[in-house]
Amino acid sequence: MALKKNKIIHDFRDMIRLRTISCEDMSKAPLDQFEAFRALLRERFPALFEAAEVRYPGFNGILLKIKGRMEGSPSVLMAHYDVVPVDQDGWTCDPFGAEIRNGRIYGRGTLDTKSTLCGIVEAVEANLMEGWQPMHDLYLSFGGEEETHGDTCREIVRTLLEDGVKPAFVLDEGGAVIPEGVPGLRKKAAMVGIAEKGTANYRVTAFGKGGHASTPPRHTAVGKLAEAAVRIENHPFPARISEPVYVMFREIAKLVPVYERFAFANVKLFTPAVKAAATVLGPTFNAMVRTTQALVTVDGGTAYNVLPDRASFVVNLRILPGETMESAEAYLRKIIKDPEISVELIDGTDPTPVSEINCPEWQMLREVCADTWPDAVFAPYMLNGGTDSRFYHEISEHVYKFSPMEMTAEERGLVHGPDESIAIENLLKTVIFYKKLLTRL
Ligand SMILES: [Zn+2]
Repeated sequence: MALKKNKIIHDFRDMIRLRTISCEDMSKAPLDQFEAFRALLRERFPALFEAAEVRYPGFNGILLKIKGRMEGSPSVLMAHYDVVPVDQDGWTCDPFGAEIRNGRIYGRGTLDTKSTLCGIVEAVEANLMEGWQPMHDLYLSFGGEEETHGDTCREIVRTLLEDGVKPAFVLDEGGAVIPEGVPGLRKKAAMVGIAEKGTANYRVTAFGKGGHASTPPRHTAVGKLAEAAVRIENHPFPARISEPVYVMFREIAKLVPVYERFAFANVKLFTPAVKAAATVLGPTFNAMVRTTQALVTVDGGTAYNVLPDRASFVVNLRILPGETMESAEAYLRKIIKDPEISVELIDGTDPTPVSEINCPEWQMLREVCADTWPDAVFAPYMLNGGTDSRFYHEISEHVYKFSPMEMTAEERGLVHGPDESIAIENLLKTVIFYKKLLTRL
């Protein structure tokens, strides 16, 4: 089963050339580009569109169902075809030119995540041409509003829910094959997300009496607000080992002895052992063990000689599994300790449940990874950011967040940045991964 390399490269470059940029206000997005992307799929993957039942749920979702040979729990392969805007300086080529340079294809979306979308459809198309049919029903679920946290994927999941679909296996973007491995382990590692922190924005508002600045009270709204800001920064959420992080330590401990004591010692934070781990893992450790807080925007008065009647800031939280948007809000109120300051939730999502790893599906993913990257170990971890797959936890206990591609630290830094690019060799390996995976579904 030789790969049709030229076809894959040709298709992928055409996907990159379409400017499927999602915006907060999707009516301002280039909708013709999204439509052209869907048309491109239909044109280039005729066997897939012939075999599949095709639906377009939500604003710009694509849902393809390939019937299985027998009854049984279905699987879902996910990706998104929208990309973030290209407003940064620093591109050395046309961000939508799909230029090839030194064995790499350049352009927005080459890593995030038209690569996995391309990998999925190329693998399915090739396998269908070879007479393959999945054992159980297989769904391909592609969203076009991931980057703006739109509702398309929620709608796709609702469509599946209405059909009574309960997937045994869901795979979406997330971790990757990391050549540098995890700290302390000098080995390539396939890192697979099993849960995501929640994310929420709260507006904190202090009030004051308006009036002339020449006869001020002791504290203005801005002053009261500043105190709240300082209190929040000085009282980080308590650190603790949440379930996904415990599972991660436990699994990595099987590979790197230095992690053993965290995994099994029923970790007490701020013991010397954990402090040592914090040193090994650097700043990511903080994000792993607590709900983080970042004061991100501030609004206050409008003139130099007028007392503001209100001032507010927004604090962005990344919520650890085991907590909720509600409990986090209660913690903020407790810390601010001033009933006259209001805390209101603007938007957000709770952390996801933790996907199982003691199951045949996890084992299957591990085997396909080992088959594709024989020199890589395999380990679970918790994502800090949000992916579309968070919606799938509602209908599946096996939602795994893993972009089957090799990505160096440098390449991970290119995601959402200038000169995003993928090595052609890595793109082809992604297709191979999905080809192998499909024969197990
Ligand atoms: Zn993405």
